[in-house]
Amino acid sequence: MAYAYDDQNIFAKILRGEIPNDTVFESDHALAFRDISPAAPTHVLVIPKGPYVSMDHFTQEASEAEIVGFMRAIGEVCRLEGVSEDGFRAISNAGRNGVQEVPHLHVHIIGGRPLGRMLA
Ligand code: ADP
Repeated sequence: MAYAYDDQNIFAKILRGEIPNDTVFESDHALAFRDISPAAPTHVLVIPKGPYVSMDHFTQEASEAEIVGFMRAIGEVCRLEGVSEDGFRAISNAGRNGVQEVPHLHVHIIGGRPLGRMLA
């Protein structure tokens, strides 16, 4: 499958510095910032800096350094936010069925309260 990346999406604008964000963590390959509409006390979005739409796209086309950098950023955010001990949920919505609103890969890190059971 060919993946079409729209560089006018809001997270692409955040990466270019065209829209402000509340940064939690930044590295060569990833940016993490607070969700504008938090679902829990901790709600951080972790995005790769490269132009990838979804986890599927990312794992097919990104370099190993980008993949490692992105996954490490998720762990850094958990530790910085203090959710490692009590736990958290990491979610990445993709496409139409996944109800993905912003077409740039992002992982929601949600925690800070009991989250209950949820798969769909
Ligand atoms: P959904 O809205 O269904 O969760 P996504 O998984 O694509 O869809 O999530 C997009 C997330 O981006 C939402 O949680 C939304 O609150 C957040 N968001 C949108 N615009 C911004 C922004 N400018 N800064 C931070 N978060 C944003």
